[in-house]
Amino acid sequence: MEIRYLVTGGAEGFPSIFCQCDACRKVRTLLGKNVKMRSCTLVDQVMIDLSPDIFSQCINNHVDLSEVNHVVFTHSHSDHLNTTEICFRLRELASVIRKKDKKVMEIYGNDAVQNGIMEMVAKDPHVDLTRMKFHRIRKFEPFQAGNLKFIPLKAYHKLDEEALIFVIEDGRSTMLYANDTGALPDETLDFIEQQNIKFDIVSMDTCRGTLDGDTHMGIRENVELRERLRRMHAVTPDTEYYLNHYSHMCGMIPQEYERLVGQEGFLLTYDGLSVTV
Ligand SMILES: [Zn+2]
Ligand SMILES: [Zn+2]
Ligand SMILES: [Zn+2]
Repeated sequence: MEIRYLVTGGAEGFPSIFCQCDACRKVRTLLGKNVKMRSCTLVDQVMIDLSPDIFSQCINNHVDLSEVNHVVFTHSHSDHLNTTEICFRLRELASVIRKKDKKVMEIYGNDAVQNGIMEMVAKDPHVDLTRMKFHRIRKFEPFQAGNLKFIPLKAYHKLDEEALIFVIEDGRSTMLYANDTGALPDETLDFIEQQNIKFDIVSMDTCRGTLDGDTHMGIRENVELRERLRRMHAVTPDTEYYLNHYSHMCGMIPQEYERLVGQEGFLLTYDGLSVTV
């Protein structure tokens, strides 16, 4: 399984363009890996979420999405659901797809994601809806997207909709993809335990940094989740841990936070990071 963290920041990005906090000021000068655009990830040929920054990140990372025909959405927050780019994919003149059978974009999401897409589509007279197939997904109901099996789990996030995180399997490796979410709900942890799932890689939300978690995790919740997964035997000594969706909220720039979480055995993702498991 190849995991490409195309973009890895929180909702406002880092540096947040209107922000005068010390961390954002520093990052405007330092740039490099400290810059974090809004999150989405390509796993093999399946996109998870579509960031508002996907255009520039495809250019920067030499990524060609024209062969990507599956997009799985976690939830409808605007840093994950870029309806503008979906509309361009559904326009014949904007996205010329030569292979007839590849024209359909398979989109997976909850009701709020579907509503968000359909609202945008309704305003765009150039959209060809025969190019889209929407799959309504629900917690704990597995589905196949491309070569990957997804098991949606309930997140603790955006509480007015069913926000989802995922177990992702390719038949050889298993990943927990857990952003956006705060500390995982008991029903999610119970499901992982009952299904006897073992993760080769665990990717966690760390938006809050050194602050207490809320509907996002911070380092404390990351440590607690790893401990809980260890007690459940859902991880092994070889399991790798990545922290993703980091924001400016706690005031530490990414290279400082990377050192801090490194002491705990965690790796902080950065825009363009590629991991193979
Ligand atoms: Zn987010
Ligand atoms: Zn800031
Ligand atoms: Zn969110």
